[in-house]
Amino acid sequence: MIPAVFDYVRAFSLSEAIGLLHDDPEGTKLVAGGHTLLPALKLRLASPSRLVDIGALSELRGIEISGGSIKIGALTTHAELLASESLHRELPVFREAARMIADPQVRNRGTIGGSLANADPAADWPAIVIALQAEIEIVGSSGKRRVPANDFFVDIFATVLEQDEVLAAIHVPRPEHGMRFTYRKIRHPASGFAVVGVAAGVRLQGGVVAAASLGITGAASHAFSSRAAVDFLTGKPLSPERIEEAAKLAAETTECLSDRYASAEYRANLIRTEVKRTLLALAS
Ligand SMILES: Cc1cc2nc3c(=O)[nH]c(=O)nc-3n(C[C@H](O)[C@H](O)[C@H](O)COP(=O)(O)OP(=O)(O)OC[C@H]3O[C@@H](n4cnc5c(N)ncnc54)[C@H](O)[C@@H]3O)c2cc1C
Repeated sequence: MIPAVFDYVRAFSLSEAIGLLHDDPEGTKLVAGGHTLLPALKLRLASPSRLVDIGALSELRGIEISGGSIKIGALTTHAELLASESLHRELPVFREAARMIADPQVRNRGTIGGSLANADPAADWPAIVIALQAEIEIVGSSGKRRVPANDFFVDIFATVLEQDEVLAAIHVPRPEHGMRFTYRKIRHPASGFAVVGVAAGVRLQGGVVAAASLGITGAASHAFSSRAAVDFLTGKPLSPERIEEAAKLAAETTECLSDRYASAEYRANLIRTEVKRTLLALAS
């Protein structure tokens, strides 16, 4: 449980952090809250020669609500997302989800940017940002880009981030009037991570689904949406029969993971039940 030797550098600006990553992309790792990276170092699952601490970069912290969008800095902690009243008024799903993450100690240090960049297939935020149709702002030595959340996660612990890039912020569109989101997860009894977690959004107009969205985590190598289920729901009433069919389509979207705790078949069944429950909650 003792990490390999590494150098520690505290970055004082985003450009300094990017410069350090660019100098030695193979050997350098960013550290934000450290709640995933430090255990990985202790277990020697990672042995970078240099850690660049971005924890003090105020430019990567905070929640700004203006115009049509909400900007969440990458270093915003789970606890800050839980506590923010202004965010809660716009999108209560942030508080709903943040409260399901770990315990107060982890929530006080762990960051949304660290969680998304780490891309643990069982992490909670990936499902939320996909359902919210957020964009991920990435800054690197070749400039700035924005990637839709649904395209950001590519595999187990893998994203589109290049080795010299930093996840800077998450941009969430402000919800249209009447759009509601919710999140549910079936927790792993030991770790609390999602065996399957489902974030869903629905806007009803005259009893018909005017807009819908889904984000699913825990079930597969990375979080995903289900185009088939969303298309099926849109433009029709949110009846129990249609919810049942949409949940079935969502469960058929991808190949599920299988491990000692849950088989692929069991996870697919959990997608079906959890999509159904989130949609029924939104229909009521
Ligand atoms: C006991 C325990 C229980 C937990 N339970 C849950 C849970 O129920 N649900 C859940 O979702 N998570 C859970 N977590 C994970 C927790 O939320 C982590 O804090 C989070 O996933 C990582 O955030 P961090 O800021 O600590 O990242 P760090 O550990 O600092 O970094 C994680 C990785 O992301 C990279 N990184 C960090 N920030 C950036 C950035 N801005 N740009 C690019 N790369 C970056 C780092 O280089 C590293 O590879 C748990 C963790 C613990 C220890």
